[in-house]
Order: sequence, then structure tokens, then C-alpha cells
Amino acid sequence: MTGTIRPGFIDEDRYDRSRRIAWLDVERVRRTKCLVVGVGALGNEVVKDLVLSGIQDITIVDMDQVVRSNLNRCVFFREGDAERSLAKVDVVAQRAMELAPDVRINSIEGKVEDIATEELVRFDVIFGCLDNIAARLHLNAQAGHVKVPYIDGGTDGFRGKVQVVLPPATPCLQCAMNQSHQRILERRFSCTGAEVVVHERKIAAEITTSSIIAAIQVREALKVISGRSEACIRHVEYYDGYQVRSECYELELDPDCPNHG
Ligand SMILES: [Zn+2]
Repeated sequence: MTGTIRPGFIDEDRYDRSRRIAWLDVERVRRTKCLVVGVGALGNEVVKDLVLSGIQDITIVDMDQVVRSNLNRCVFFREGDAERSLAKVDVVAQRAMELAPDVRINSIEGKVEDIATEELVRFDVIFGCLDNIAARLHLNAQAGHVKVPYIDGGTDGFRGKVQVVLPPATPCLQCAMNQSHQRILERRFSCTGAEVVVHERKIAAEITTSSIIAAIQVREALKVISGRSEACIRHVEYYDGYQVRSECYELELDPDCPNHG
């Protein structure tokens, strides 16, 4: 026995284990400003991962209140939040700030369309955690306009996908919608066999897939922030948790897409 083990200085640094990853630029991560649009299942997980990764400046946007059916997959929500119909952004902001003392979360209760394009310039990365096509395409176009990396996630039951858009160089969501082999992949990864790009209905959702897709979104952002964009998904990753498979698909830039003028 060597007596009492005293914690060494390496355990005093919150980010010590992160600093041991050679390519990860922890100081840059801490200076990064992120926008997360949608704080449902994916947004909860994305914000949690961002805060634990060291991001200190996060703006969140959502127009909804917490309801009981959110509670099977949202780490920040509690029964009492649903009973009081609290705004999702307020609950996420409060609980996420408890995870790290120096994080600042700016919450906006509203729609993505409420954010002026010029306000997006201040962000380094934008996350789409949305469940409808109109909002995603709107955010995709805005991010492209101000040339801010956009990382879009979506889930449907045990399936999900992540698209990384690095404007103006890489194809965007609009480009992807126009590509026929993309649509074939969408069909293969859809529950119903239909072509599913995004989901407008009340979709099946559970925490393991939300966690995985959100984690991929944040992981890709950490590469972008650390100057390792070359290691990012090119350009869509599909995931099927039931069959335990994933597939990466490289998109083409659509010459007719209005977002690359
Ligand atoms: Zn495009």
C-alpha cells in the first residue's frame, strides 16, 4: 500500500483527456460559436456533446414546449417540464449550463425563419436538428449564403443520416435532393420503402439512434473546428442500427443548385 492517492495535476484539467487526441484543437474548440436549430431529441444530444466537448458559446433555437412524449429520448427534460409546458429552449439552456460552469447558452424561442441571415455570420458551425424539409432547406440555404459549415442530422426509428455541408465547396441539401442514386439510398434506408428525404409526420424515435446521429454531427464539427475538414464525411452518412450497417455516399455538386452562385 502506498497510502492515500492524491489526484495529480492531470486530473485538475477538465480537458486533459481531450488534449491527448493529437488532431483535436481544444483551445479552438473552446473559442467556437455554434448554432443549434431544433432542441428535440437530436438537439438535446448535440448540445450535451458540444458542452462536454468544451464549446462555450452556443445559441439554440426552437419554438416548441416540452411534452411527455419527448421524455423517452431527451436528456435535459423532466416530467415537471412537460407538466408546466416549459419552452424547450429555456429548459435546455438551464440544464446544459449546469454541465459546465463557463458555457453560455443564448436561447431563441422561435422558428429558424425568424433568424436574419446576417446574424448567422457570427457562427463557426450550424447544426440542423430539425424534423421538416422546409426548415432544413431554409437553414441550408442561409448557411450556404454566409459560407458557414452546416451539419444536418435526421432520424427515423433505428435509422438516421448525417450530411456535412462545407460551403461553397461541397454539395448542399438542395444538391442532394436532386440526385437519383441519393434517392435510391434514401429508399434503402427508409422504414417504409418510400423515398424519404426528411420526415413531416410523427416519426418513430428512440434515444440510441438520436445519440449516435447527434454524436456523428458533433464529431464532424470537431474535425471542421480543428482544421481537419479533409477527414469529414463526404458527404452523407446513412446509418441503420437494426441491421448494424452504415454507408457513406459522396454527392455531386448540382450545377443548377441556386446555393453555389
Ligand atoms: Zn447545393
